[in-house]
Amino acid sequence: MKATVPAARGYALGMTKGDRLRITNTTGTQVLDTWAFATDGQDDLLSMEHCREVLQKITFDTGDILVTNLYRPILEILDDTSGGGHDTLIAACSAAMYARSGAGNDHPNCAANLATALAGEGRSCAVTPAPWNLFMLAPVRDGRTIDYIRPTCPPGGYVEVKAMMDCLMVFSACPDDVYPTNGGDGSPCDVHLEHISA
Ligand SMILES: [Zn+2]
Repeated sequence: MKATVPAARGYALGMTKGDRLRITNTTGTQVLDTWAFATDGQDDLLSMEHCREVLQKITFDTGDILVTNLYRPILEILDDTSGGGHDTLIAACSAAMYARSGAGNDHPNCAANLATALAGEGRSCAVTPAPWNLFMLAPVRDGRTIDYIRPTCPPGGYVEVKAMMDCLMVFSACPDDVYPTNGGDGSPCDVHLEHISA
C-alpha cells in the first residue's frame, strides 16, 4: 500500500508485527518527524532517550533495533539510502517554537500534526514525545555543540523499517521554515510511504 504524508501535515499508519515500511524523501530536502506507539495492549512508545542508552550512540543505523520506554523492540532499521545521521536530539516544532521565533501564533507545526493524527485514532499524548527526526541533520560538534544544517539526503533516498510489534506510526512532514534543517527554502514537501504487509 502506498501513501503520502502531505507537506506540512501529519499522517498515522497502523503497522502489524513483521510489516515493513519504506519512507522515501522524494525531494531529499524534507524532514519527517516520526513516532511509534505500541498497539499490542501496552502503552509504551518509541523512545529516543532509551534508544540512545541501549545503542550507545545518538544517531541510528541500518541493523539497529529501536526500543520503547519499556526497552521493548519496536522498530528495526532494515535499510537506509539517505546518508543517515537522522537527528534524535531536537524537539518537534510546536506553536510555542514558532511564536518564540517570531513566526506568529498559528504556524503549522509537528506537535499539532501529531495531536491531530492521534486524535483521529482515538488516542492522545499529554506531552509531545521526542521525535525520531528522519532526514534531519543536527550534528554535535566537539562533543557538545549542535549545528543545524540542510539535509544531505539525495532525492529519492529512503529509510526502511520493520515493525517488531504491532504499533501505530505517526509522521509529520515538518513545516519548519525557521531553521535550515528543513531544506532552507521554506517550502515543505510531501513524503512518500510504501507499506508492505508481513
Ligand atoms: Zn516540525
